[in-house]
Amino acid sequence: MLTVGVDVGGTSVRAGVVDRRGTILDTARVGTPSGADALNDAIVSVISSLTARHTISAVGLAVAGFVATDLKTVMFAPHLAWRKAAVAERISRKIDLPVVLEHDANAAALAEFRYGAARGAKVVTLIAIGTGIGAGLLLDGKIFRGAYGVAPELGHLRIVPNGRPCSCGKSGCWERYCSGTALSATAIELLAGHPGQSTVLAREAAGDARSITGRKVAGAARDGDPVALRAMAELARWLGEGLALVADIYDPEVIVIAGGVSESAPLFLDDAREIYRDAMTGAGYRPLARIRTAQLGDDAGLVGAAALARDVVNGHH
Ligand SMILES: [Zn+2]
Repeated sequence: MLTVGVDVGGTSVRAGVVDRRGTILDTARVGTPSGADALNDAIVSVISSLTARHTISAVGLAVAGFVATDLKTVMFAPHLAWRKAAVAERISRKIDLPVVLEHDANAAALAEFRYGAARGAKVVTLIAIGTGIGAGLLLDGKIFRGAYGVAPELGHLRIVPNGRPCSCGKSGCWERYCSGTALSATAIELLAGHPGQSTVLAREAAGDARSITGRKVAGAARDGDPVALRAMAELARWLGEGLALVADIYDPEVIVIAGGVSESAPLFLDDAREIYRDAMTGAGYRPLARIRTAQLGDDAGLVGAAALARDVVNGHH
């Protein structure tokens, strides 16, 4: 049996035909349009291009947003046009297949549990560090969504009182200190405080500090730039502090670090592990979660959504 997984992101809609081993057999993609109807049409078109070439049993959508526990409705998606939208029903009607929705981090966590870095672990937390933080939680292989589908929204835990303002309306959120955006913000602060210290990054900025992206900071850190390395150390600190909180709440067996920033893991993960170890309650007297980087990369959401669609068809959901 083959299913299609679709990763509905803020910039592109990527779809793949996935088999039961989690292998992607075929793909299609299109840019994410801005209106809700146009978005539905774009998703239908990528799915149709795949169903034209393969026999598909069901479709799963990994969505960067809040999905209701019925797995059919998108409540809110900050970077997409959907608001209280009956997405599954609308798309299902057009492609004549069952459609299930899932939060993208939950879908990625499921994929890493079935096929990747968290295979077989009892309690799994996935922390996707990109522009912000996306988080997923699996208990005994089952996605934990909370009572209303929103859990675990870890990126907006307030980790720094009176800290950096966040687009969610609060301040001091974890993702303001531990994300690609945070790397950029920290580097800009450091450059302003120590003019003339940085070589690579100061040149990159060329008078406009806003041009310093998280990616540029990571690149400069790899080249040994002192300001970039300090920004990376700050990220490691807040990652470790945050993971210690996560460990106190969920006591996970495996923590999977995913997302674009995880590609720079060699620059921060060992430091984060050390801080995590020291910051957790009962440090030294309890087993530590294994902290690993994701294995499925960008495909995790798509593969996880396809796996969930398979479960729904098989009646395992
Ligand atoms: Zn926030």
